[in-house]
Amino acid sequence: MEEGMRRERKFEICGKPFVPNKYRPNQTVCSSLECQYQRQLSNMKQWRNANPNYFKYKESQDKSWKQTCRERSLEWRRKHKEYLQLYREANKERHRVYMRDYMRQYRLKKKEDQNNKEEAGQ
Ligand SMILES: [Zn+2]
Repeated sequence: MEEGMRRERKFEICGKPFVPNKYRPNQTVCSSLECQYQRQLSNMKQWRNANPNYFKYKESQDKSWKQTCRERSLEWRRKHKEYLQLYREANKERHRVYMRDYMRQYRLKKKEDQNNKEEAGQ
């Protein structure tokens, strides 16, 4: 294997640096939920751009196209929901820490205001 293959690269989407794994030499997107999801979306877009007439063609060929379309959209929504749930789970801890710091700042600010008021009153 060439030495250059093992050098550090950057993930698409998030730009995090990584050293390519020898078992996945073509990896360009990290395994985080967010990046995997973004990749899926962009794959879909690329495919649609490359096959602009696919859906029109299908429509003229398939009388139950509308039905298929509806099922696909339901399926997409279901998957999307799953993703959102996973995403929320993954971010729970982050959110908890954020809220804790937020409340801490809030209480500090309140206390400061209170002190300022008392000082002004004297
Ligand atoms: Zn990433």
